[in-house]
Amino acid sequence: MKPNEQTRRVMVGSVPVGGGAPVAVQSMLNMPPDDVDGNLAQIEALAEAGCEIARMAIPKRACLDAFGQVCERSPLPVVADVHFDPVIAIEAARLGAAKLRINPGNIGGLDATVPVLDAAREAGIPIRIGVNAGSLDQDLAARADLTLPEKLAASAAQYARFCEDNGFTDLVVSAKAHDVMTTVSTYRLLAREIPHIPLHIGVTEAGTQFQGVIKSASGLGILLEEGIGDTMRISLTDDPVNEIRACWTLLAALDLRRRGPEIISCPTCGRCQVNLIELAGQVEARLRTVKAPVKVAVMGCVVNGPGEARDADIGVACGAGSGAVFVKGEVVRKVAEADIVDALMEEIGKL
Ligand code: SF4
Repeated sequence: MKPNEQTRRVMVGSVPVGGGAPVAVQSMLNMPPDDVDGNLAQIEALAEAGCEIARMAIPKRACLDAFGQVCERSPLPVVADVHFDPVIAIEAARLGAAKLRINPGNIGGLDATVPVLDAAREAGIPIRIGVNAGSLDQDLAARADLTLPEKLAASAAQYARFCEDNGFTDLVVSAKAHDVMTTVSTYRLLAREIPHIPLHIGVTEAGTQFQGVIKSASGLGILLEEGIGDTMRISLTDDPVNEIRACWTLLAALDLRRRGPEIISCPTCGRCQVNLIELAGQVEARLRTVKAPVKVAVMGCVVNGPGEARDADIGVACGAGSGAVFVKGEVVRKVAEADIVDALMEEIGKL
């Protein structure tokens, strides 16, 4: 049995996390926390891209009212992200949060946590204990006998056990670092130490789009392949919608979950006689509104083009300024380069 089939299932709104449920895809809102309409518009865009859980920061008590309004109107379950002030977490639970995210390193110690556990229990919602390398418990951070992964895992596990000892078991745990292999080692330790608790996996502060996607995909790819991780976020310094696209692309690449199209396109070489890079980019952009898991091949020449186009649901194998369009393995028409994208979209529409 894989680690993520053995975890205790929790519900984040209507989304199951853990216990063998599909790895849930989530992101975090980055609109001003008092901008109700802005946050709701971002939630809509995230939901459209396939986001299943949205997290919202509540930096001060004055933002609680807006948080409550967002929860009330959101199509997605909204997680309250709270640092420093346990009262905010307690109020967020009462205002409709689908989950609380707190950090043991800064929420005010174990005693301050007990009323938060009570509020979550009363609201019937889970809590994520989210440890970050940048805000580790000070006593643990000072220990010279432990590696950073050991400190992160110990911090999260200790805190989780404290919650369980206080009768609260509806938990999710995360312990993230910006370094990929530290993150991987930490989650491997957590999967061994607290195998019953669902894990939220991610490489934190992974960077801008290019670097962030590569760091996240390498770290989360290793973990997911080992069956570690019940819900995931790919953290990018970018539009959160791109976090969701990256999550789905990674899950599809690992053959864990599929949503939306997959593009098979060649890297181009000196044999290519169309502007394939532009064509593939246009196809990718037009496919963003397609939700079916269709495979689309966009190939540059006759070397690998017909084979890949034939294997895909829809494909084009290009020649000199033109392309042969394939549907389910058969050539259905030949079109000029300028008409290739429209022709592919037309054929996809008929599937
Ligand atoms: S399919 Fe053709 S154009 Fe594309 S990389 Fe291969 S040989 Fe080059």
